[in-house]
Amino acid sequence: MTQKIVLASGNAGKLREFQQLLSGCGFEVVPQSDFNLSNADETGTTFVENAIIKARHACQQTGLPAIADDSGIEVDALNGRPGVYSARYAGENANDETNNQKLLQELAGVPTEKRTARYHAVLAYMRHADDPTPILCHGTWEGIILTEPRGAGGFGYDPLFFVPTHNCASAELDKAEKNRISHRGKAMQELLQKIAQA
Ligand code: IMP
Repeated sequence: MTQKIVLASGNAGKLREFQQLLSGCGFEVVPQSDFNLSNADETGTTFVENAIIKARHACQQTGLPAIADDSGIEVDALNGRPGVYSARYAGENANDETNNQKLLQELAGVPTEKRTARYHAVLAYMRHADDPTPILCHGTWEGIILTEPRGAGGFGYDPLFFVPTHNCASAELDKAEKNRISHRGKAMQELLQKIAQA
């Protein structure tokens, strides 16, 4: 019988990427919205803590194993901000647009060579809510913050995230290519290997 796993995220952009990343992985992956789960309180100060909080919450509420992602962008000129607060950078009611506007404002006048940044994604897989050894994977992806948005794909900060290896914004990448090279894609490839070996 195929093992059911809950995907502990309510973020539509992440869910679209996960669907592609997990297609054909041999698990039946069910989004947390199918269980009407409330969002977990992300009270941690690290990606690792928040990923575990979200996975544990989903396990507790469903009785199933869960995968959670906590991710964000670290901007060098902002001493690493917004980091774990990337989703809430422009305030509690922030959305992708207000977050991107705030990022452009904070970096106004900063020259290209100082606009370096990276995405982080920590994935946590927990077999059950009391799992004492969650499987954790961390992926990163280097880029440069643009001075204006480009592209219509992806989500979050993708229109402002220039990918030097591909000479375009992350929002201009084809979905499959983003998943192949992104922080989340790299962490997921590693996670699937570790789950298979466990
Ligand atoms: P959280 O993990 O739900 O706390 O939110 C992560 C936030 O980081 C998202 O809401 C986005 O703002 C940002 N983020 C994470 N991964 C990506 C990505 O692949 N593209 C663009 N923004 C991202």
